[in-house]
Amino acid sequence: MTSPPTEPEPEDELDSALTTARRQLERAATHIDVDPGVVERLKYPTRVQQVSVPLERDDGSVEVFTGYRAQHDDVRGPYKGGLRYHPDVTSEECIGLSMWMTWKCAVMDLPFGGGKGGIAVDPKGLSADETERLTRRFAEELRNVVGPTKDVPAPDMGTDAQTMAWFMDAYSMQQGETIPGVVTGKPPIIGGSYGREKAPGRSTAIIAREAIDYYDHDLTDTTIAVQGFGSVGANAARLLEEWGATVVAVSDVNGAIYDPNGLETHAIPTHDEEPEAVLEQDAPETMTNEALLELDVDLLVPAAVGNVITADNADAIEADIVVEGANGPTTFAADTILEERDVPVIPDILANAGGVTVSYFEWLQDINRRQWSLDRVNDELEEHMLDAWTDVRTKVDDEGLTWRDAAYVVALSRIAEAKATRGLWP
Ligand code: GLU
Repeated sequence: MTSPPTEPEPEDELDSALTTARRQLERAATHIDVDPGVVERLKYPTRVQQVSVPLERDDGSVEVFTGYRAQHDDVRGPYKGGLRYHPDVTSEECIGLSMWMTWKCAVMDLPFGGGKGGIAVDPKGLSADETERLTRRFAEELRNVVGPTKDVPAPDMGTDAQTMAWFMDAYSMQQGETIPGVVTGKPPIIGGSYGREKAPGRSTAIIAREAIDYYDHDLTDTTIAVQGFGSVGANAARLLEEWGATVVAVSDVNGAIYDPNGLETHAIPTHDEEPEAVLEQDAPETMTNEALLELDVDLLVPAAVGNVITADNADAIEADIVVEGANGPTTFAADTILEERDVPVIPDILANAGGVTVSYFEWLQDINRRQWSLDRVNDELEEHMLDAWTDVRTKVDDEGLTWRDAAYVVALSRIAEAKATRGLWP
């Protein structure tokens, strides 16, 4: 089966996550025999909770922020997905991102649906005390819609394990009992899972390794550029280097460093260890983030923010393979251009799904009150990633789909079957 002809449209403005998510859904639906009523239902979220989050600043003044929790679909289990603290957070963005979580959980065959939320705030402008007060109040505002069997938040851009600890504590105090399973991505001492923080980077590296092998490259003979040196990019780069690849370029928000002979990624502090330290490292060359994306490398891993590969630069991408570490780094129009140019793009919903997969392990550990060792977490993650990779690869091989379409088809088939089996009621 070939893809429907879709002319890339001019991108006056970059697509919102919701526009992209809906177009990707419609496109995937053309590849399978799915009830159009199911596709129609999946274009909309079940619910979006919008809340005002008042914060007493350290100077005693009060500022009110807007928070959201979008719950897209829960036919396969509780809503699952991150909480993002970023000035650009909107209701529409949360809905789009929650749709991606629905597909991500389904492609990984996890018993969860999709959710996403956040607060429109610049976390860099908050003290630790302010972040704590804001998070506790946000948890209180969302108390009626979250819970271990309802909707389970996790870290995302601008939030971390400590944010989850405050959220879990606020929720538990109000419920009158300790409920670790209300969020994942917590510190291990209060029910978090070992290996959760590094999991999205680890899964990106595992999928990159499989993709390199699939396209007959040898990992030890592979050059890699990684955009973003946060929890996804840094951990993926370090693992790929450990496994023998040559990481020639990495970047943070200020720019990139480049060494054709390979960088020592372990010597470069990650965003969490020392924010924005990439350009301070010794390297033969520095360049912009835009130039990094256009390097002639075997593998490109955009692992920073969304919408970085667009109709404007898709023709200039020289990498043989793109593996998406960030959520939504490639616009719909860019995808079409890369498809025409035969540049495979392994999608975010597969590549970075290690985060939510280890979140699932964390949720199981919380319910069972039994912690797993790091080795067990990493072994089970490897197994889950390889199973999902095989499911998607089979669709690519058997039906000639792009990797994104194949991942969507796997996810959508599972969701549609669950919906058909449960039925529409009332
Ligand atoms: N925020 C992460 C993502 O985009 C993880 C979500 C989770 O663990 O629930 O996949």
